Amino acid sequence: MAFASTNPATGEKVKDFETMSNEQVEQALALSMKAHHELKSWSLEDRAGAMQRIADILEDEAEELAAIITLEMGKTLKSAIAEVKKCAMGCRFYADNAADMMSDEVVETGGPATTYKTYLPLGPIVVVMPWNYPLWQVYRFVGPALMAGNTGLLKHASNVPQCGLSVEDVVRRAGFPEGALQNVFASVQQVGIMLRDERVRAATLTGSERAGSSVGSICGEVIKPTVLELGGSDAFIVMPSADLDKAVSTAVIARTQNCGQSCIAGKRFIIHTDIYDEFRNKFKTAFEALCVGDPNDPETDIGPLVTENSRVEIIGQVEKALSEGATRLTGAEAIDGPGYFYRPGILENISKSSQTYYEEIFGPVAFLFKVSSMEEAVTLANDSPFGLGSSVFTQDKSQQDYAIKNIEAGATFINSMTASHPALPFGGIKKSGYGRELAAEGLRAFCNIKTVSIV
Ligand code: NAP
Repeated sequence: MAFASTNPATGEKVKDFETMSNEQVEQALALSMKAHHELKSWSLEDRAGAMQRIADILEDEAEELAAIITLEMGKTLKSAIAEVKKCAMGCRFYADNAADMMSDEVVETGGPATTYKTYLPLGPIVVVMPWNYPLWQVYRFVGPALMAGNTGLLKHASNVPQCGLSVEDVVRRAGFPEGALQNVFASVQQVGIMLRDERVRAATLTGSERAGSSVGSICGEVIKPTVLELGGSDAFIVMPSADLDKAVSTAVIARTQNCGQSCIAGKRFIIHTDIYDEFRNKFKTAFEALCVGDPNDPETDIGPLVTENSRVEIIGQVEKALSEGATRLTGAEAIDGPGYFYRPGILENISKSSQTYYEEIFGPVAFLFKVSSMEEAVTLANDSPFGLGSSVFTQDKSQQDYAIKNIEAGATFINSMTASHPALPFGGIKKSGYGRELAAEGLRAFCNIKTVSIV
């Protein structure tokens, strides 16, 4: 892995970073363990104080940090600023709520013993993260994990090295022990070394199936817990009783925000036949009105895709779908000129026999499907290897209940788009991974839930 910042809006490489030596990996492991021992001895109040200081720094420096995000992965500056502020909000949430989530819970067993559950940290955790929300993905680990007393060895995506370094810097300046969160420029092989090291107690990975399977296999071999947050191809269902204009405007954001590079983006739009034509026309008009361009321009809705490789992959998926019978309603093509710009687009008539039908497209391309009932919509929604989020637009209570009970996904949002929030557990089923981040579930995922019995 070569770590480098390349500006996706121009294609220019801005800065290179050296991969670590194995000696540096060893030093990072030793420091992570030392920091864990120190952090474990801190009170929850002290951890909360440092966590609030992280939030203060993020708020004070939101514009500078956002500029690094935009430079390295191309999202609009305004959305990057919103991402940094969300990180601050997440840190404050854990500063305020971790003590409750970690407080001992008495369990009556009917015998003479006093029995309770207590939550203890595990230790150093390997944290493998993707580039698409390069700060939020990391801070949603930092908040719960450091509050619990764990430490992190962050192997960030190779195209966002300065984002990774910024997290290490902010955590240190906030006053956490030296090494509580270290950015490591580690190769895949060095990630394996860390996962197998006895000082590392767990791993969390957000990314592709390929990377998740690799990290999960190693941790399986050496018996370490993992949380895997992988891809998604979320269904976005719209039924006749929905507020159609709201459904359309939400659908456009759900598919195109972050240049369509979100695991929980609505990707398959499943529309009831009675409103299909109206939805389709409004959706098309809204897609065509989106402004694609310089991510630093406040008028821009959509910046470039993250890399040329990513653009080539999306072009290939769209061409394959078209060659297998899909039709192009609008867009879905590369834009000539410097940078990795791509016009958001909509495809219809994607055949069930087409390979693309089952794939995630990690860019602003929507698939449109027509169905004649909620049952048919849910069957189509479930006809996917993934099971991350889902959105359903309907005012009909029985249809809402049916969707909540029957869609195979880690989340179902009724009359809004799927979104993460620090108070809500986040994660998927099927090929979207396992385990949960955020909320008490996310914090406890990396705790030793110790049973205590005292007679
Ligand atoms: P990716 O290639 O899997 O990269 C993610 C991270 O894994 C990067 O740090 C990458 O390092 C590392 N990695 C890759 N192969 C590895 C291996 N064999 N062992 C250890 N680490 C490895 O993912 P991506 O394609 O950049 O990211 C997009 C994917 O992430 C999409 O599928 C998206 O849906 C998913 N995602 C899921 C969530 C969620 O919460 N469920 C959130 C965001 C994104 P390098 O960069 O150095 O290759």
